[in-house]
Amino acid sequence: MARIGILTCSNATQDLGCSSASCLADFRKRRGAFADYSKDEPLDLVGIINCPGCPTLTGADKLLQRIRALTEFRVDAIHFTYCMKALCPFKEKYKSALEEAFPNIKIVIGTHVEHVTTEEYRERVKKLFCQPRKTMVDMILGKD
Ligand code: SF4
Repeated sequence: MARIGILTCSNATQDLGCSSASCLADFRKRRGAFADYSKDEPLDLVGIINCPGCPTLTGADKLLQRIRALTEFRVDAIHFTYCMKALCPFKEKYKSALEEAFPNIKIVIGTHVEHVTTEEYRERVKKLFCQPRKTMVDMILGKD
């Protein structure tokens, strides 16, 4: 039995509303990064948590606190989601920091099957972020 935790990017989950449906579908179907586990080994999803946000001056410290939501529950591996793989400029630093802090936990970069190139994925995410959106400012200014 492999006990697995998943770390998502908060830009994708909190800002852009991803429910991790693709990651979880491929977890169930053992595709993408989950195909690397032996077919005889049952997979148990222990938990999912999002990154606490881009680290500014704190480096990996913020993440090391937050990842306790997974590490306190006997996980064997933590997967960084595909969105982290494609978007996060800190992923390798995070991976090293987690490997140092939790030497018995395998850190894997990736979850679901990659359906488009990384470049195309980044372009599409960029478009989502850059689309005009009405906010409270528009309401205050009577432009809603
Ligand atoms: S640090 Fe990386 S994973 Fe966390 S919110 Fe920023 S881009 Fe996403």
